[in-house]
Amino acid sequence: MSIIYLNNVTKKFKSITAVNAISLSVDQGEFVALLGPNGAGKTTLLEMIENIQTPTSGTIRLFGRDWATHERDIQRRIGLCLQETQFMDKVTVREILCLFASFYGLPDSRADEILRDIHLEDKQKSYIENLSGGQRQRVAIGISLLNKPELLLLDEPSTGLDPVARREIWDLILALKKQGMTLILTTHYMDEAAYLCGRIVMVNKGEILCDGTLEDLLAAHAPGDSISMTLDRGPLSVASLDALGVHTVVWDEGNRKGLFHVPSAHIALPLLLDIVKANGASILSLETHKATLEDLFLVLTGERLVTA
Ligand code: ATP
Repeated sequence: MSIIYLNNVTKKFKSITAVNAISLSVDQGEFVALLGPNGAGKTTLLEMIENIQTPTSGTIRLFGRDWATHERDIQRRIGLCLQETQFMDKVTVREILCLFASFYGLPDSRADEILRDIHLEDKQKSYIENLSGGQRQRVAIGISLLNKPELLLLDEPSTGLDPVARREIWDLILALKKQGMTLILTTHYMDEAAYLCGRIVMVNKGEILCDGTLEDLLAAHAPGDSISMTLDRGPLSVASLDALGVHTVVWDEGNRKGLFHVPSAHIALPLLLDIVKANGASILSLETHKATLEDLFLVLTGERLVTA
């Protein structure tokens, strides 16, 4: 039985279709990233799974149950962490954890366990207002873990945090994997999706673009290497690129930047340089790398995955 089951789920806001006929099934123990640019529909999708928003049409089941008939049961089994959590400032870390624990009828000792898990024991007497952004986010995740959920839903857990704080959040999330947790998170950071989640569901304009492991997705849609090249003029003639065995070319006319997916950079590069010369163009910058999720998104949409 799937932990999350979505069939043909659509959400419309007047003329905007935020989520368009999405079907998705998540099994126990899976870590799934909903990856996509701003406005892709990630939060709307997550909030429908959380029952914060109601689908315009389609079916959502959690643990094989409907929200309409099993709300309390489902609520007991899930943990939520929204994009932004507002806390009262003049409350200490321990007090806020104890307060939320009491909502679940749990003793203060559960708050103390969470303090250890989120590595904030030394801050337990600090006011929330004196915490860093990363520490505050750890408190928010800690609150979502109080009821020992089987399924955790995180909306952009590390957005706006510095690299060290992001890393701490990632460590916290990865520790949950060992406990058999099922997780779905939204992100527009490719590295976050790739690092934390075994399964990546790429979302754009309310639809699923692709769904699979990082390796499978890259092998299927963006195999080999990427060559990124900025020229003083362009584009290069497509006919001449055929000789390279190029999988895909994305040309950004505004920036005169080309992204070429090739089976092998070291074979393609000398040929590409010849083609640039034959086209009478000069290279302003050049970079080669193994294909990434960013390349995959470009291949599938022709657009850049904006990482703000
Ligand atoms: P971000 O990464 O910026 O949070 P997202 O992928 O989570 O983006 P959503 O917040 O789900 O995207 O928004 C999807 C689309 O639905 C956007 O076009 C957004 O403007 C629209 N939308 C979301 N909520 C509402 C609402 N309450 N009323 C009208 N339009 C909405």
